[in-house]
Amino acid sequence: MDSTNTTEISIKVDQVPDNVAAPESRILVVMTGGTICMRRSPDGFVPARGFLESSLAPRPSFNDGSKPDDLQIIVDGVETSYHSLRTPISTYEKHVRYVVYEFAELLDSSSINANGWAQIAEVVYQNYRAFDAFVVLHGTDSLAYTCSALSFMLQNLGKPVILTGSQAPMLELQNDATDNLLGSLIIAGHFMIPEVCLFFNHKLYRGNRATKISASEFAAFASPNFPPLATISSLKIHVSWELIYRPTHIKAFNIQTNRATSDVACLRIFPGIKPEMIDAVLKLDGLKGLVLETFGSGNAPGGADGALVKVLADAVKRGIVIVNITQCLTGTVTPLYEPAMHLKRAGVIPGADMTSEAALAKMSYLLALPGMTTEKVINQMSVSLRGELTEQTATAFAHPRDVLPTHLANLTQLGYSISKGDHEEVERLLKSDLSWLLNESDYSGNTPLHIAATGPNVDILRLLLQQGASVHIRNKSGRTPLFLAANAGLTEHVTLLKQSGAHLHSGEMATAKSHARKHLDLWRAAGA
Ligand code: ASP
Repeated sequence: MDSTNTTEISIKVDQVPDNVAAPESRILVVMTGGTICMRRSPDGFVPARGFLESSLAPRPSFNDGSKPDDLQIIVDGVETSYHSLRTPISTYEKHVRYVVYEFAELLDSSSINANGWAQIAEVVYQNYRAFDAFVVLHGTDSLAYTCSALSFMLQNLGKPVILTGSQAPMLELQNDATDNLLGSLIIAGHFMIPEVCLFFNHKLYRGNRATKISASEFAAFASPNFPPLATISSLKIHVSWELIYRPTHIKAFNIQTNRATSDVACLRIFPGIKPEMIDAVLKLDGLKGLVLETFGSGNAPGGADGALVKVLADAVKRGIVIVNITQCLTGTVTPLYEPAMHLKRAGVIPGADMTSEAALAKMSYLLALPGMTTEKVINQMSVSLRGELTEQTATAFAHPRDVLPTHLANLTQLGYSISKGDHEEVERLLKSDLSWLLNESDYSGNTPLHIAATGPNVDILRLLLQQGASVHIRNKSGRTPLFLAANAGLTEHVTLLKQSGAHLHSGEMATAKSHARKHLDLWRAAGA
C-alpha cells in the first residue's frame, strides 16, 4: 500500500473527520507562580490567583470570544471542570484551546524544591492523554533547574512540555509575559517537539541546556552550548528539526518522582580554596554526589602536596559521585591540562558541556533511580540521556542550510519504501542520518509512522519507533497512527504502538467507538 492509499482509507472511512471543521490543539497550562502572575501590593509584587480570568480572558490574542466548553483536569486522581479559552486562528489554521491549573500555593520560584517538581510531573502524567501539550508557568529564578529536573523525571516523553515565565508581570503595561506565554502556546500547539523546553524572548531552548543570564533583561536566558530549538520572528516560526531530541525506546511515557535534592551539592572552586572546605562538604551527612564547578576546561588547584586532589579521591573511594563542570558559560571539560587530568585520575567524572543545573538535576535523578549502583551512576553521567551534553566521541553533523528539495525527495522515498515493506531500504535511508525526517509529514499530513501503521511490515514500524518517530502526530484528518492501524485491523501494529505510549486522541474517540462494532477487541486494545 503506498502513502496515497493510506490517505484515501482514512478519508473514506470517516466521511466527516472529527477535527477538520475547527482544528484545535488542547493545552494544559500549569501555573506554579513567579513574576508572570504577580500583582502590586503594599508589600511589593506578590503572586495572585485567577490568572485565566484576570490576565488572559480580557486579551483578544488569548481569547477569540467563542466561549468553549469547560475541560476536565485530573489532580490527585480527582477530575474537576475548568473554564477553557481559545486563541484566534493561527497562521497554521489552528486554534489553541487551553485551561489553566493553578498550584494550591503559588510560589516564588526561589522556594521550589523536589516536591514542586514532583507536583508538576504528576499533573502532566495524570492529564497526558487529554492534552496535546503542556505549558508550565514558573518564576525565572530557578526555571533552568526545574527544566533540567523535569527533563529527566519525564521519561519517554512524547509531547511538548514548555516552561516559561517573565521578567515583568502580565498585568504591568510593559511586560514580556504576553509574548512569552503566547509564543509558548503557539509552539506547543503546532509543533511536535517532544522535549522539556524553555521558551523566553522569542527563542525555544532545550530545557536542560538553558541557564539564567540576566536578572533584568528580557533576554534572561541563554543556551550557551546548544543552539535554540526554534525561534519566532515576525515572518515565521523556524524549528530546527534536526536538533530535536526524540525518545527511542518502545516504552510509554512515565514519570520518576522519588528524588531528594538534599543528597547532592554544588561547590564553586576559587583561587586559594582550602582542601578542608571541600572535605567538610564531602563529609556532610547523607551526601551522595557533588557538582564541582572548576576553572576553564576543568582545572582545580591541586593544593599543597596534592591535598585537594587527595580529598576528592578519598570521597570517590567512599562512593561519592563527583562531576567536574566548568565555570565558563561555553566550552567543555576535557583533561587537556595537568590539573584536569589529576582530577580525572582521582575518579572525578568530566561533565563535558553540561550546565551546573543539568549536572545537579541529572545526578539526583540517577541516584534516586531504583536499582542504580554507584558504578552505573558514574557511567550514565557522561552519557547523553536527554540531550543534556555533547558526547565527546559523537561526530558533529550539520545539515546544509538549503535542504528543502532533497528533504522532500527523501521523505517521498522513505514513504514508498515503508509502504512496500522494504525494511532494508528504510534502514539504509535512516542510516544516512535522515531520522529527523520521521516527524515530517506529506501533503495529507501523514508522517512515515502513519504509513508504517497500515504498512505490510511490522518490523518497519518497530524500526521507526526505535528511531524516535512520534506516535502523537495527527494527519490532516485528525488521525493518529494508532487509529489508522486499528482501522486497518492490524493487531500487531496496534500492540506495538500501544507499547510505545500511543493513545487515541480525544477528538478520535467518537469515531473509534462507532467503528468498534467491527474488530471490537482490536479497538478495545487501541483504547476505544
Ligand atoms: N523571584 C521571581 C521567581 O523566580 C522572579 C521571576 O519570576 O522572574 O519566582
